[in-house]
Amino acid sequence: MKKFTAILVCKVLRFIGKALKRGTSLPGKIALKIDPNILKKIEMPRRILIVTGSNGKTSTVEMIAHILEKNSKKFAFNKGGSNQIQGVTTFILDDCNLFGRAKSDIFLFEADEHFAKRMLNFFKPTHLLITNLYRDQQVRNGNPEWVYKGIEQSVNNTDITMVLNANDPLVSCFGFNKENTVWFGFDNMIGTTREITSVYNDGKFCPKCKNFLEYEYYHYNHIGKFCCENCGFKTAKTQYTGNYTEEEKEGFLINNEYKIKISFENISIGFYYNLLAAFAGSNLLGIKAEDICKSLESFVSKIFRVVKFDLDKYNGVLLISKHENSVSYDQSIRVIVEYNEPCTAVIIVDNISRKYSTNNISWFYDIDFEMFKSEKVKKIILSGFYCNDLAVCLSLTEIPIEKISVFEKIPDCIKYLRDNTEGKIFVITCFSDKDKFLEEVAVCDVNEIDS
Ligand SMILES: [Zn+2]
Repeated sequence: MKKFTAILVCKVLRFIGKALKRGTSLPGKIALKIDPNILKKIEMPRRILIVTGSNGKTSTVEMIAHILEKNSKKFAFNKGGSNQIQGVTTFILDDCNLFGRAKSDIFLFEADEHFAKRMLNFFKPTHLLITNLYRDQQVRNGNPEWVYKGIEQSVNNTDITMVLNANDPLVSCFGFNKENTVWFGFDNMIGTTREITSVYNDGKFCPKCKNFLEYEYYHYNHIGKFCCENCGFKTAKTQYTGNYTEEEKEGFLINNEYKIKISFENISIGFYYNLLAAFAGSNLLGIKAEDICKSLESFVSKIFRVVKFDLDKYNGVLLISKHENSVSYDQSIRVIVEYNEPCTAVIIVDNISRKYSTNNISWFYDIDFEMFKSEKVKKIILSGFYCNDLAVCLSLTEIPIEKISVFEKIPDCIKYLRDNTEGKIFVITCFSDKDKFLEEVAVCDVNEIDS
């Protein structure tokens, strides 16, 4: 009876909430008050995939949803990322009939890596896909190891199929010597190096036994092919293997058979991983490999991350990056350096977080600004409230000081760009700071993707 009441109340409140354009958390919150175990009593779909990780989860879920839709699957996903348990409860009960049976055949969830453990305590998915675990939002998340521990306790001794990035050592710990694990990763990748190139090395020590971890190669940061000689922990054999080579530059191959075409420009390496993860995820949800490739050809992201703009006679690209996440910044800088033609780089940090108040700038020192030494990068302009902190950080690099200009006010930065730009303009900033820049320029093309 409690189950029936909880579902009914949730549905009624959701109906009213939709009419009033209110958020999704209240109906779920009340339903959980009526019956705290409601989610355990629901007849869930046969397949439930949760995607979590530091970077790329929104893009990956968006791609999988696109693939499922193109292949006429009856599915539901938490669009817009309502991933706190109250919102997820609303979402699940809304999809159920009054007897508690899900109407959809598949549930697809994006879960914030910090809250994933809570979600997993309320119900278990059939598949849990983890994209990566990086230093990210330290004020909120602490260290990646803390995030790892939280998720690990929730998945231990369950029959969840883990879908893991084999090139990420910490993520690989979830599946080391365990059954029920599916691995994805890249063998070849353009730009792979023998030595690590980033400022810090989170792959220096084996996460299992703390001995040194040896790398055969690095795709970026500490993502690559690794092995610990002490305990045998190593990059697992992948079931979904990407190969991105110079010969196949307009796309990449999965398992040397399925070609994923890339029609976007200025995308980061992380995006290739998102595509591979989406391929693995949707294949495990029952979509044929050939159909996935076909569906991805028509994929256009709703959560645009690369924005093209004009500033007088100059063309520019805005690369949305995650603040408090040095890997995201490193990848954007790499896009600029790999452009390999004269250009002007702008970095805007005005508000560090839109979720909470923080002045933590320690993550600046984790970013590989040294890449800007490239002679092709003619000017570097720092702007926003934290421009001087960025300037101190860049002063510790070997970048010639005359390349760097600092303007706290974004309109002043744009005024300078009008008269002093060389080549194409690349602007690195976060999602919430982007509008402060875009309202001053002519946006000509909003297309695609995530970093
Ligand atoms: Zn080890």
